[in-house]
Amino acid sequence: MSRVYNFSAGPAVLPEAVLLEAQEEMMDYRGHGMSVMEMSHRSKMFDDIIQETEADLRDLMQIPDNYKVLFMQGGASLQFAMIPMNLMKNGVADYVITGQWAKKAWQEAQKYGKANAVASSADKMFSYIPDCSDLPISEDADYVYICENNTIYGTKYKKLPNTKGKLLVSDVSSCFLSEPINVSDYGIVYGGVQKNIGPAGMVISIVREDLITDDVMPFTPTMMKFKTHADAGSMYNTPNCYCIYMCGKVFKWIKSIGGLSAMKERNEAKAKILYDFLDQSDMFSGTVVKEDRSLMNVPFVTGNKELDAKFVKEAEAAGFVNLKGHRTVGGMRASIYNAMPIEGVEALVKFMKEFEEVNK
Ligand SMILES: *Cc1c(COP(=O)(O)O)cnc(C)c1O
Repeated sequence: MSRVYNFSAGPAVLPEAVLLEAQEEMMDYRGHGMSVMEMSHRSKMFDDIIQETEADLRDLMQIPDNYKVLFMQGGASLQFAMIPMNLMKNGVADYVITGQWAKKAWQEAQKYGKANAVASSADKMFSYIPDCSDLPISEDADYVYICENNTIYGTKYKKLPNTKGKLLVSDVSSCFLSEPINVSDYGIVYGGVQKNIGPAGMVISIVREDLITDDVMPFTPTMMKFKTHADAGSMYNTPNCYCIYMCGKVFKWIKSIGGLSAMKERNEAKAKILYDFLDQSDMFSGTVVKEDRSLMNVPFVTGNKELDAKFVKEAEAAGFVNLKGHRTVGGMRASIYNAMPIEGVEALVKFMKEFEEVNK
């Protein structure tokens, strides 16, 4: 077996302990004589899995009782439509545009109502988080929407916006469970799981109970009503059973290393190694304003496109894969999610030092 250091932005690295456990249970899940992939979602076996998965997530994130945890399909992208369909009562929402995912959500919402861009960092290629302390929040806004960690550009809110009393909705796809958060600060906090939690194909949405109603836009498909999923315990239709099972294992793994505070410490230590190197390198530099740097996605450049390409190619040959920056921005990006071990970041920095030495 030969594993690489995988810096993919998503689907992304998973903890090896989790993969090994899944391998062990593949043919015969705990004496049931079948894989979790083969089980009825209506079986007691699977019911135990989904209940325990939800309980562990509630425990990890300290989710208050008045929030529902929904396991749904369609990824984060389907939420871009579900959120306005379910939440727009006045037909108005305010969006902060900090990158492509926020922009996509904003564009989608425009189909259903008046979606205002109340701030943006497009002027500087999304390299910073705009000041959100005094936004021109619409009087009748149903919610304020942010993308909390910008996967492509590598920025992260260090402080939530002042929504002036309006509901906050946040896409945390690429920083999910990377640090403790206060769920009560949000109306909805949601994310696709393939960045930091599990296999692709599912979104976990944590929704305040009073937002789950039949009062949705009249054309809303049954499958796109939060209430449909909440009433059915995320099993209105066949859920992504295997993904739920894998997420559950990752939750247990995070608990085993000490929960979200320990995760945050680990993530800070890892990111510091890379950022410290970038800050003193003559060849490589980070592309993001220091105060707004993400702990999860670290974009960097050499300033020379050919050298970038050479670096990506040689890194790959050395076992550091998926370092090419997003197709829209170029350069490099190292995604160092929860499951990336500190050794992976140390080894990458060592490789970067050697590359710099040879190519200067
Ligand atoms: C990856 C990503 C998405 C899209 O997720 P899908 O599950 O592919 O729809 C949305 N938002 C953010 C912040 C992401 O990183």
